[in-house]
Amino acid sequence: MSGSSLRVVVVGGGVTGLAAAHELARLAAERPADGLRVTLIEAADRLGGKVQTDHVDELLLERGPDAVFLRSPFWLELCQRLGLADQVVRANPEHRQSYILRRGRLHGIPGGMEGGVPRSIWPMAASGLLSPWGKVRAALEAIVPAAHPDGDESVDGFIRRRFGAEVAERIALPLLGGIYSNDTRRLSLLATTPHLRAAEREHRSLLLGARRAAHRPAANKGPGSGGRSQSPFVSLRGGLECLTTALAARLSGVDVRPRTRVMALMPTPTGESAFTLALGDGQRLVADRVILTVPAFAAAELLRPLSVVAAMQLDRVNYASAAIVTLAFPAGSITLPHGSGFIVSPDEGRLLSACSWTSQKWPHTAPDGVILLRCHLHATEHATILDLDDIGLERTVRAELGELLGITATPRLTRVYRWPRALASYEVGHLDRLATLDRALADLPGVFLAGAGYRGVGVAECARQGIEAAARTVAVPSPNGVPASVAGTR
Ligand SMILES: Cc1cc2nc3c(=O)[nH]c(=O)nc-3n(C[C@H](O)[C@H](O)[C@H](O)COP(=O)(O)OP(=O)(O)OC[C@H]3O[C@@H](n4cnc5c(N)ncnc54)[C@H](O)[C@@H]3O)c2cc1C
Repeated sequence: MSGSSLRVVVVGGGVTGLAAAHELARLAAERPADGLRVTLIEAADRLGGKVQTDHVDELLLERGPDAVFLRSPFWLELCQRLGLADQVVRANPEHRQSYILRRGRLHGIPGGMEGGVPRSIWPMAASGLLSPWGKVRAALEAIVPAAHPDGDESVDGFIRRRFGAEVAERIALPLLGGIYSNDTRRLSLLATTPHLRAAEREHRSLLLGARRAAHRPAANKGPGSGGRSQSPFVSLRGGLECLTTALAARLSGVDVRPRTRVMALMPTPTGESAFTLALGDGQRLVADRVILTVPAFAAAELLRPLSVVAAMQLDRVNYASAAIVTLAFPAGSITLPHGSGFIVSPDEGRLLSACSWTSQKWPHTAPDGVILLRCHLHATEHATILDLDDIGLERTVRAELGELLGITATPRLTRVYRWPRALASYEVGHLDRLATLDRALADLPGVFLAGAGYRGVGVAECARQGIEAAARTVAVPSPNGVPASVAGTR
């Protein structure tokens, strides 16, 4: 600390870093006596990180995230605070049905699913996704005793023991594996879907728990659960980039430095500040607190000289690569089923992992007369999609759409967005690794980590982590003697 000022440097200007800097700017204005001085450093020439919206020929194209899942009122409150409440749009209720591609056919995802697991068994009865035995086994969940594993387990392991192999392989694997960018056999239950374990603990059976919840008065059902008919997916009319733009526009007093990479983070041997940051432009910056919001593997490189243990934990956060291929067709040149799109079971052996029928799901993204499709390709250990050039990716997608939906028309616009090592996913043991990380960071008071690599991969969770990290930086009394509970990722 220099005199009465507290210098906080936020590294990374994605949604996490912007939310952190915005919160710090707010705190600085609210508590001028704290002498908060905030700097935001971003390597790219634009702010927003993975949140990127293109506007082309009246089309709204999301390069990265295109929807926010409402887990709590947080996102809507944030939009409200940023003056974006009137921008919030819900996914089109007319096209809620989505499908799973299995054995070359689209099967409607049965109603009554929540968080990738059935809440009610009746909609399953008519589903072509499960065999008769698979349906009986799923219904038996109501009498399966609760298990009490001590620690983490895989999402697949949990769903398999509760609902049987078919629900685990034919529904949860494509659905939750797609959302969390990893094989459910590797995904951590406690880090991705802790509510499933909590429901088992509380009700023994998830089906029974859901039945009880359905009979509870609406006011007791918890945040975000109101109105079953409303989609829990929302976006912003002008694109999700409106959020990061709004945050960036409200950084008054913050020293914002785009096109500047942090090359190294060093403890300041003596003097008044805790850290020195070496910047790509040759400058050095001193800081009392540093919030790292860069991907975990980038944070590992910055922290390795300071804490090998922290760097090792950060190295273990897995990031998948992906590509998005967006195609716009003249209306009438292709026909889509009713619904919002489909996800592909990984055992189909296709490069396509999902296809959103964007103009049906989000009517604000395309004018009348245009049908917009957004195709996801996720790299797996078997498919290194990013080895394909853009033409190869487009060709692959069009060939697969031809086979699956009979689409042979030529798109009037194609955009390919490549995302190397971009989707964080939490593997079994993730929370234990974060606990080890927090212990290691307790020896580095003044360093904070937030973002997709830690406690939530979605845009909303990243913003929340950024705000929480900002609050923790000012709660720390001094760079020396920081209580462990206020350092780290929590
Ligand atoms: C294709 C795709 C689709 C997605 N879909 C959804 C979705 O529909 N809904 C959803 O909620 N989430 C989705 N996500 C996830 C979500 O977009 C991300 O998890 C979230 O945006 C990450 O934000 P962040 O700020 O933590 O990280 P980032 O956005 O990665 O920001 C980190 C920033 O740090 C900068 N940086 C890195 N190293 C340095 C350095 N040394 N010095 C300075 N700056 C540095 C980077 O340039 C970057 O701007 C999607 C992600 C992808 C890739």
